[in-house]
Amino acid sequence: MGDESRPNIVFIFSDDHCEQAISAYDPSRITTPNLDRIANEGMRFDRCYVTNSICGPSRAVIQTGKYSHINGFKTNRDRFNGDQQTFPKLLQKAGYQTAVVGKWHLVTTPQGYDYYDVLKGQGPYYNPPMITADENGQPVTRKHVGYTTDIVTDKMLDWLQNRRDGDRPFMVMFQHKAPHRNWMPGPKYLNWLDDVTIPEPETLWDDYSGRTQAAARQQMTIRRHLSDRDLKLQGHGTMNAEQIKVWDAAYGPKNEAFLESKASMSEKELIKWKYQRYVKDYLRCVKSVDDGVGRVLDYLDETGLSKNTVVIYASDQGWYLGEHGWYDKRWMYEESLKTPLMVRWPGTVQPGSVNQDIVSNLDFAETFLQMAGVEIPDDMQGRSLVPILQGKTPKDWRKQFYYHYYENPGAHNVARHYGVTTGKYKLIRFYALEGKKLDDWELFDLERDPNELTSVYGNPQYAEVQASLTVELARLREQYKVTPDDQLTASPRARRK
Ligand code: CA
Repeated sequence: MGDESRPNIVFIFSDDHCEQAISAYDPSRITTPNLDRIANEGMRFDRCYVTNSICGPSRAVIQTGKYSHINGFKTNRDRFNGDQQTFPKLLQKAGYQTAVVGKWHLVTTPQGYDYYDVLKGQGPYYNPPMITADENGQPVTRKHVGYTTDIVTDKMLDWLQNRRDGDRPFMVMFQHKAPHRNWMPGPKYLNWLDDVTIPEPETLWDDYSGRTQAAARQQMTIRRHLSDRDLKLQGHGTMNAEQIKVWDAAYGPKNEAFLESKASMSEKELIKWKYQRYVKDYLRCVKSVDDGVGRVLDYLDETGLSKNTVVIYASDQGWYLGEHGWYDKRWMYEESLKTPLMVRWPGTVQPGSVNQDIVSNLDFAETFLQMAGVEIPDDMQGRSLVPILQGKTPKDWRKQFYYHYYENPGAHNVARHYGVTTGKYKLIRFYALEGKKLDDWELFDLERDPNELTSVYGNPQYAEVQASLTVELARLREQYKVTPDDQLTASPRARRK
């Protein structure tokens, strides 16, 4: 523990948490004082891109430091092959104590962890069953009563207090289900934000006219695709009678008021109402995550562990809080391509620093290994962020980034696509939708059109940019050993979740 060359690593990870809902990035919707502590006392990354903007696949990339086509987990229908090389296994071999608490979502039993206590599948917001190892090391499912975000935080603190081995450095993954759909707030925040109006994003009323057909053919609009359960107009999920009583006392009057005025609302007013309901519930879920992070940071401070512990906060991808009229993720467009990343590392990271380099969840495994002084295997495809954290970005750091989304046919009907971005320009190729081949290209000038409303693909003014990005895209696909993906139907799997 006193060995500064081998710091402890606390990796805090949430699901679908976007920068727009962290005040260190954007204070316009919510204040997250505890998450902001990590940015204020550490480094905030403004260009952390994910390789494949969806839950399970992002987690598999983090475990392996490899793109989806190499680690084998391309869509949420896949199962993670836990027999392959992962960073926790390498840390464990190097003498680190390893643990994962909370959301796992990789289907197979966690490997490479001295301790695991993880949500079964997606995990509900209330009363979650969780899987841990019994005294014989066999997976066993245990029931819990309470709000999942609080339960996961309690388990994290229990691990730090009671299960940690004081003689070894540790790496623990503290992973929330929140603020994943369907955004069910905890009892404490059911009425929080009731009396405020959340600002609408500029692109809430996007009509998709400036892009190829893919943007118009998705199924993730606030206007049409949120269900009554999403909007809390019906359903109680997995709550018990006592929890339902508290819930109904909060939502009942709000829903009655809405249903009374619904008939006289215009379509636009109805969308505005849905937006407020959706975003507020999302922010309420974030608030409990922030509270939990605060409890863990306090514990690290009070015990003196903070001094030699790296604290990382990230999410598995970004998210749409109404931008383009959407909720959900999947796209290579900015809001879902980016994920928050903040790192506090006392004595190494300059407090309050902000970084603009193109970094990725592909780099996390390599980063953790270097932090622990473990050699990074040659077959990992990312690069350690340690030099950047030390304030010394290598001259040959990446200037381009490769992205690939595979899940179509699938939920929300986002076309399969891949592309390259330099942070200034972005080239995307949509190649399959609803089982049919496509060859639709989009090009964006992110400085002139940061909201990505108008593709300039084929515009003679951008001929040079288009040609160079096309070459770059082919080069990256070769570098990362991307195999041609001609499969147009959903990958078969027994379990669909
Ligand atoms: Ca996710």
